[in-house]
Amino acid sequence: MKKLTEMSLEEFAGLSYPCSCGRTHEVGIRKIRVAGGCLEELPGIVKDLGGGPAYLLADRRTFGAAGERAGQLLYEGGIPFHGKKFSGEKPLVPDEHTLGAALADLEPEDRLIIAIGSGTLNDTARFLSARTGVPYMVVCTAPSMDGYASTVCPLILEGQKVTKPGVYPQAILADTSIMKNAPMPMLTAGFGDIIGKFTALADWRLSQLVNGEYYCEECAALMARAVEKCAENAEGLRARDEQAVQVVTEALILSGVAMGLVGNSRPASGAEHHFSHFWEVDALRWGQEHPLHGNSVGVGAVISASLYELAKSRLPQGFALPDKERILSCLQAAGSPAGPMELGIRRDLFFESLLHAMEIRDRFTILRFLAGQGLLNGCAAELAGRFYPAGKE
Ligand SMILES: [Zn+2]
Ligand SMILES: [Zn+2]
Repeated sequence: MKKLTEMSLEEFAGLSYPCSCGRTHEVGIRKIRVAGGCLEELPGIVKDLGGGPAYLLADRRTFGAAGERAGQLLYEGGIPFHGKKFSGEKPLVPDEHTLGAALADLEPEDRLIIAIGSGTLNDTARFLSARTGVPYMVVCTAPSMDGYASTVCPLILEGQKVTKPGVYPQAILADTSIMKNAPMPMLTAGFGDIIGKFTALADWRLSQLVNGEYYCEECAALMARAVEKCAENAEGLRARDEQAVQVVTEALILSGVAMGLVGNSRPASGAEHHFSHFWEVDALRWGQEHPLHGNSVGVGAVISASLYELAKSRLPQGFALPDKERILSCLQAAGSPAGPMELGIRRDLFFESLLHAMEIRDRFTILRFLAGQGLLNGCAAELAGRFYPAGKE
């Protein structure tokens, strides 16, 4: 049997892998396709999944990007379908209104839900699928976040960010000739979400060394390899080069797959995600818009890597530091935000997030490590001075 690091992304579909870590890793997704032009394969995939009637969910933008063509293909393939197009002006959010409207148009005879979109539409379809038992698949329209292959639904309920359990998509269909035309902030957000894995993986390793937490060498190596490939394609992404978009898309899907393999989000999420979450919750509290998740995560990775540098002398012997300069230069090359001021984060919020982001969840990261050493306050002051030079905030 091939090792995880030797497998192509598409080979992960339906995998059961007895791993060197002692566990058997499994993937409940039946089909993964990432290629230019692969939207044309939609009818065949829908038939393999048991056929229609299919219920398509799209918004104005994703309908134009892929939904209209998806409908034509289903029609030509003789697959019955109907659709819901969210046509509001504002960006769609996965809140009570969106979930309710999506549910209201689901028909009793529907056999498959097809999300045509990225974050919100995928999360909406996943939630609907998990609660109704109707399977779902996703046609990806932007390489903007790593939730395609995830099993949880991040929702906004009563103005609060909450995560509800969901299910795997049965299939992921990512046509890179469509995805490369997504709005640029979505491309840079997906890239930032991937660059955040540099520090997520460091946090996971640190917790293994300090606390003996379960760690899978093969899954970590798998993720690290995908992140490396993205880092090498930063400039291509900025130019909307389809090959670079493919590399980032594969890494984003793989990130969800890796979380499924391990059974938690360790391969994909550490302190950099806690910063992003902290800033997002603050913006929600004040009813303000906030940057896309992945753009905050990229900045979070710069901060987290800076903390690792400051902690260097206290870290376990031989610990491989995440490379802060590399993280910075990758983000800059891709055109992603690389500092908190670029995201519009106020200095006081930045300082507060350094001290309290770790309280978001019970997970050991560089933040808890520094707090345990009594160094977190000092590091927070140091970084606030560095990222907000006097007179510039
Ligand atoms: Zn393993
Ligand atoms: Zn993320």
